[in-house]
Amino acid sequence: MASFTLHGIPVSRGISIGRAHLLAPAALEVQHYLVAEEHLEAEVLRLQEAIAQVHRELQTLWTELPKDAPTELGAFIDVHVLILSDPMISEAPLDIIRTRNYNAEWALVTQIEELSAQFDEIEDPYLRERKADIQQVAERVLKVLMGSAQLPSAELRDDYQPQMIVVAHDISPADMLQFRDKSFVGFVTDVGGQNSHTAIVARSLDIPCAVGMGNASQLIEQDDWVIIDGDAGVVIANPSPLVLDQYRARQGALLKARKKLLKLKKTPAVTRDGTAVTLLANIELPEDCPHALESGAMGVGLFRSEFLFMGRANHAHKTPTEDEQFEQYKKAVLAMKGKPVTIRTLDIGADKPLDGAEHTALNPALGLRAIRYCLSEPQLFLTQLRALLRASAFGKVRILIPMLAHAFEIDQSLAMIEQAKQQLREAGQKFDPQVEVGAMIEIPAAALSLPMFVKRMDFLSIGTNDLIQYTLAIDRVDYEVAHLYNPLHPAVLQLIAMTIQAGHKAGIDVAVCGEMAGDTKLTRLLLGMGLREFSMHPAQLLAVKQEILNSDLAALTAQTRKILRATEPQAIAEAVAQLQTL
Ligand code: PEP
Ligand code: MG
Repeated sequence: MASFTLHGIPVSRGISIGRAHLLAPAALEVQHYLVAEEHLEAEVLRLQEAIAQVHRELQTLWTELPKDAPTELGAFIDVHVLILSDPMISEAPLDIIRTRNYNAEWALVTQIEELSAQFDEIEDPYLRERKADIQQVAERVLKVLMGSAQLPSAELRDDYQPQMIVVAHDISPADMLQFRDKSFVGFVTDVGGQNSHTAIVARSLDIPCAVGMGNASQLIEQDDWVIIDGDAGVVIANPSPLVLDQYRARQGALLKARKKLLKLKKTPAVTRDGTAVTLLANIELPEDCPHALESGAMGVGLFRSEFLFMGRANHAHKTPTEDEQFEQYKKAVLAMKGKPVTIRTLDIGADKPLDGAEHTALNPALGLRAIRYCLSEPQLFLTQLRALLRASAFGKVRILIPMLAHAFEIDQSLAMIEQAKQQLREAGQKFDPQVEVGAMIEIPAAALSLPMFVKRMDFLSIGTNDLIQYTLAIDRVDYEVAHLYNPLHPAVLQLIAMTIQAGHKAGIDVAVCGEMAGDTKLTRLLLGMGLREFSMHPAQLLAVKQEILNSDLAALTAQTRKILRATEPQAIAEAVAQLQTL
């Protein structure tokens, strides 16, 4: 067996070594036959029953979601329920059976192929990505029709000693849940991008994963030895014993380093020359707070409140009520035991739509998103603001507003916070009247008009994910332009540096809460730029702390000045790499 290497997109870090477990795409293997007239209704019923069974399966998955399941999973299951209920899936194939006499599997695949062709024509990358969801739902129905479980049976899993790497054309997030047990150590998929559902779930599960691997599922064979280098997005099949040994050694070193990091939990994050740095956690739900504390976070720097608004297809209220929200915010505040909790107001739209919302924007990333949406829905916004303010009676809450670009948006937001306070006063509800309000700096226009922000706001938080997207004009969920996503582009660095400096000059806190804050290769650069507040996924926090403990701020600051004056990307990249030696 010849060894070969495949290159894809890295989405979840670490190294995995195991035997390939291939998931066959059910859709390719269906039988095609014509059904006699007198059996047509029985065939229709067979398909209807399969669809009903998948409905029940999804319902069970929903109700049995483990407490520690990634927060997005509920939302993904909801999307699959919606697709399954759509007449395009639940009715159109029945007509195909009746009119063309196709067997149920063939009818379903025919309909899916027609839908897929229509999806390929769609320009909007978010909608185009939904094609994968439709195919995943169809595969579930096909599995039931064909009576074959695609997942390995429980006995097989128990007997199967070596750790397995799942190789598939695509894996639905719901199926991924079933791979949580210890024998599955990695995921490789042919399709998917940096922010595809599979990638998001793999990252939350902290399992090495490489997506966008082309035709990996055809090249790799069942039980082949496979190495995933999750940091590089590389998959090596049938490695030579020498390569296998090298990766085993690297894997061992990584695990050891991780264990060692745990010792830093209580160590204050201070540079070698004595400057203290604040390390905060990004969370999606209050349930993430214990993990944040375990990793030594000094508070929550970004609570993405929109996750409370997702996955509600089965709820009576499509958006959470004031009391429901209040309970969740209070839960986070109490869980953080007096440490500050920065809650971002609803950042819905673009790649995070509300359930059932129609995609009418031509370019959702540039559309009615985040604060723009909230200001257009004042009742929804006021409800959230009241809930946030009420939670501030139980600990330190800070309100963070996303996607601000215009002075009037800041003024309207502040006016609505005042209005919410007034409503609470009238209702006799308690809140902290001094609650701080901050702005996300994530649109280049904001970074280029900082005086109007620092004058009005108590603190700033740089959302580098969007700042990069909007500065470089690349859709952050489109894998075709993923190679252009460069945090070290001189324009991006200038905007970040300007924001940090403007905040310091005005005497207000500036944090970075985008992915850059958790990237250890960039910790020293951000320190050198003057950043003193980093907010990131808790899993990254201790590694970033270690970088800080080893940093000499004076040397970093001088070298970073040079980097900010450099104009050639190559020179910048080399100088940033050199910071690691200071
Ligand atoms: C960002 O844009 O960097 C950010 C932190 O917000 P989100 O990733 O939720 O858009
Ligand atoms: Mg953002």
